[in-house]
Amino acid sequence: MAKVLIIAEHDGRSLSPATAKTVQGAHGLAADVIDVVVFGDALDAIAQDAAKLAGVTCVRVVEDASLAPALASRLAPEVVALSEGYTHILAPSTTFGRDLLPRVAGLLGCNQVSDVMEVVDARTFKRPIYAGNAIVTVRVPDAISPVLATVRTASFAAAAASGSAKVEAASAQAQDPGHTEYVGAEGSSGEGPDLSSATVVVSGGRAMGSSENFELIGSLAKKLGAAVGASRAAVDAGYVPNELQVGQTGKIIAPDLYIAVGISGAIQHLTGIKDAGTIVAINKDPDAPIFEVADLGLVGDLFQLLPELEDAL
Ligand SMILES: Cc1cc2nc3c(=O)[nH]c(=O)nc-3n(C[C@H](O)[C@H](O)[C@H](O)COP(=O)(O)OP(=O)(O)OC[C@H]3O[C@@H](n4cnc5c(N)ncnc54)[C@H](O)[C@@H]3O)c2cc1C
Repeated sequence: MAKVLIIAEHDGRSLSPATAKTVQGAHGLAADVIDVVVFGDALDAIAQDAAKLAGVTCVRVVEDASLAPALASRLAPEVVALSEGYTHILAPSTTFGRDLLPRVAGLLGCNQVSDVMEVVDARTFKRPIYAGNAIVTVRVPDAISPVLATVRTASFAAAAASGSAKVEAASAQAQDPGHTEYVGAEGSSGEGPDLSSATVVVSGGRAMGSSENFELIGSLAKKLGAAVGASRAAVDAGYVPNELQVGQTGKIIAPDLYIAVGISGAIQHLTGIKDAGTIVAINKDPDAPIFEVADLGLVGDLFQLLPELEDAL
């Protein structure tokens, strides 16, 4: 009998869509129980949203001032304290889950399966390897319990908001290990949609040449209501901050529409957009590898094409 605990991701105001996708991933486990735990402070609205996710049995709400903002070092022992009786513990394969779950795995002495993209059965999963060039099927040995896994959110749709799970208050039980302190958070300007969950993304590459030129991408994105992304070369060159990087060592995204401008299409970049719907590429080199995966391609100089495209829009 599978009993699943999912660790909810939120920003203190709303539940991250990554949680709904993790719940959808858990449906494949044919579990008898899917509980979601929400850690933080003043969690009413977030807990209510989690309770609406189809298939969720119970939302366990652990409210404590020391749990907000969420630090993996503080949350991990709390997850362990709640883990009794669960056969599976899941978190989204986002920065949040990738930070937290390995700590839980360390404390429980269990190996973790990372980046689950398909559930074969309760102990067997498919996950990408070699920058997404191959898919490996892995099985968690029977001796390991609970099964710990991060779920690749780009591989699952969000669970429908059609449920009505019960909401239960729980108390913080673990001691703060005290070795990590929250100092502050710096993020993007908050303009435009979030890159991880946007339905349209416009990304620029090395060819943009400068941060000033990169504003052409921002301007097109604004017109389309899109999020801005970038290749690693553009990030390394300092045109945009690291949080905009798409790819193997950046964000894995699954927008309905992805527009790659002046990006060659290196495998490490393509890994990040494997699950995108329609891919549009603008590149002056007709042999650029990006055209092998693009649904639509424009061959030409981006500095001419982008203003034309924007005018046309
Ligand atoms: C371990 C590892 C992890 C990595 N992780 C990532 C990752 O997460 N994300 C990522 O993106 N990369 C990653 N990389 C780097 C990756 O291999 C490539 O180097 C990078 O993606 C190249 O970025 P680019 O396409 O912007 O630049 P380039 O490969 O230099 O391509 C620039 C493109 O712009 C075109 N171009 C030039 N001028 C114009 C113009 N005026 N108009 C139109 N087109 C023009 C060129 O024809 C070319 O195709 C990783 C590499 C390694 C080794």
